[in-house]
Amino acid sequence: MSIPLLRSLTLKQAIHAIFAAFVIGFAITAVEFGWTVTRERAAALDRVAEVAMLMDGPATTAAWTLDQDLGERVLDGVMAVHSVGWVEILLDTGTVFARQERPSAVSNLLERAALALLFSDRPEVERPLLSPGEDPMRPAFARLRIGVDPPAVAARFLDYAGRTLLAAVLRVLLIGLTMALVFHRLLTRPLVRIGYAVARIEPGKPQNQPLEIPPGHADDELGFLVSRFNETLRLLEKEHAELRRLVTRCTLTGLANRTLLIDRLSHALEIASRSQGRLAVLHLDLDRFKRVNDSLGHDIGDALLIQVAESLSDCVRRCDTVGRLGGDEFLIILERVAGSDEAAMVAGRLLTALHRLTDVNGHRVHISASVGIALYPNDGADEQGLMRMADAAMQAAKSDGGGRFVFYTQEMTERAMARLRLEASLRTATERKDFELAYQPKIEAATGALTGFEALLRWRLDGAPISPMEFIPVAEDTGLILDIGAWVLEEACRTAARWALDHGPLPIAINVSARQLADVGFADLVESTLRRNGTAPELLEIEITETVIMKDVAHHLPTLNRLRALGVRIAIDDFGTGYSSLAYLRQLPVDVLKIDRSFVNDLPHAPDIASTVIALAQRLKLSTVAEGVETLEQRRWLAEAGCDRLQGYLISRPVTADAAEAMVMAAFASQDMALTA
Ligand code: C2E
Ligand code: MG
Ligand code: MG
Repeated sequence: MSIPLLRSLTLKQAIHAIFAAFVIGFAITAVEFGWTVTRERAAALDRVAEVAMLMDGPATTAAWTLDQDLGERVLDGVMAVHSVGWVEILLDTGTVFARQERPSAVSNLLERAALALLFSDRPEVERPLLSPGEDPMRPAFARLRIGVDPPAVAARFLDYAGRTLLAAVLRVLLIGLTMALVFHRLLTRPLVRIGYAVARIEPGKPQNQPLEIPPGHADDELGFLVSRFNETLRLLEKEHAELRRLVTRCTLTGLANRTLLIDRLSHALEIASRSQGRLAVLHLDLDRFKRVNDSLGHDIGDALLIQVAESLSDCVRRCDTVGRLGGDEFLIILERVAGSDEAAMVAGRLLTALHRLTDVNGHRVHISASVGIALYPNDGADEQGLMRMADAAMQAAKSDGGGRFVFYTQEMTERAMARLRLEASLRTATERKDFELAYQPKIEAATGALTGFEALLRWRLDGAPISPMEFIPVAEDTGLILDIGAWVLEEACRTAARWALDHGPLPIAINVSARQLADVGFADLVESTLRRNGTAPELLEIEITETVIMKDVAHHLPTLNRLRALGVRIAIDDFGTGYSSLAYLRQLPVDVLKIDRSFVNDLPHAPDIASTVIALAQRLKLSTVAEGVETLEQRRWLAEAGCDRLQGYLISRPVTADAAEAMVMAAFASQDMALTA
């Protein structure tokens, strides 16, 4: 901070001190003058009275004997006295016997002013001269009159006043300067030092530069000021530290947040590049954390995140950094690693530590995570790049089923970029409802009669069809599946209602994903869509894959029950690929098991699973659909084994809505013909 040029406080206070001393000094001098005037006047009169008394005898003799010579000598004697201005002997008869007067010496204005001040009344002393004799009561025959000589007294007074005034001015100046000096030493100088010390304080670290109490001021107001200021600096620093903590730490776990992580990583990279060392960035994402939040509540979710943060921090060295990127994502920076082996060892340790977390506030949990690892300098040189690569590797670990760590490869970035592009296009397509439904027929195994369709989503990107296997997972991850699924539902309900009206009732099955089923409003959406399109509920079938249903039966059960209560049929898709609990299967409100294509494919050589599923369905009074029927042998085997319905390329590939409608029309026409025949 620059220090401005200061206007001197010392000069200011000197001027003020001298001015104040002048005012007070002059007031005192004025009072002194008053006293002196009274004293001088009284002294002059006393002197004159004294002369008159001394000259009483000779004057009486001169006047009584009318001795003019003697009279003159007497008067000469009187005039020799300094304060006498004039003298006369006045006889009773009124004649002046003798008189002498000093010529007026008043010349300048000052003296005239002094005269006016002292003797404006022109005072005089008069002494009666008594006739000779002893009688004290004898009469006076003449008078001796003596006048005070004002100019002489005034000159004396002026002389005295001048000296007094000069002394007063000098005294006042001296006092003023001394006061200014004392103030300067006692106040201004320490204040200036404090000011300079304050100006040198760096705003970023105020606590590092506490002010020194000026020597000798520890117990006075200045000392108090400085110690209060230092205390304020200390509090300020505390507030600073708290603010720094808030902006750089995750408030829940206390770990470094994204900002601090990036800062630490860039610092670690600098050191690594200078020392030609290596470092590893691990991006860790908890698997299925959302389910903990959804099923146990956010408080338990938070408690779990805190435990995870502690476990992760325990697994690394002090020089490493563990931070939370947000949600259930963590970033670990391993500094000075020997190579990929060491990074892998730490990643393994992290996964094991998380695996050991089995209890959160009394709730049993099973925690696994996916970890992506990027290495410096092999994979990237800057923090953003390394973080992106670790993220891509983490996604790959997720795609492989989670619970593992994966090292970054270039191919991952390409995949990630392609996925980003796909995501953006899918978003646009969803906004524009740029999809179509293909319909694949299902027939009765025994008679070959058309029994319904499965609606399959079709999307073309730049004219080329994209497989649902590719874009449905993306739609699920991004949540777009909710909008897309609503469109499929609407479209299927509308078509089923129209066909029923135009040709006859045939059910249409739609596929519903985990995210849709978990949505609290899903059953309501189905109900309102059916009602809006005037679709009979039994014309809608909902296919849910076995893995989705069985992963969280308790969670999905209320929704499934509501759908069932509406009259909608429920099918378990891809049956046999997941792990169905038979106990659950009995409780679930399902109507249909769809035997997965892979088992149909094995027919007729390896019929075990297909025949087991058919037997199971018959026991549970569920109907069966075999999907992926491609050959006549498969069809024949399935019909003989008691499978109810068939779906597959052998019967028909998924076709357009128009082609499907033609099939519906033909089916009902042949039914009518059969009836009329
Ligand atoms: P899925 O529900 O098991 O659908 C059957 C898939 O098998 C369809 O693939 C169909 O074209 C194919 N298929 C039918 N017969 C044969 C056959 O004889 N041989 C062979 N090799 N394949 C056959 P598609 O249309 O590619 O759909 C794949 C998956 O995408 C579906 O499996 C379903 O899980 C999902 N999917 C499709 N449409 C939707 C939708 O609207 N919503 C949701 N959530 N998922 C959908
Ligand atoms: Mg299906
Ligand atoms: Mg299937």
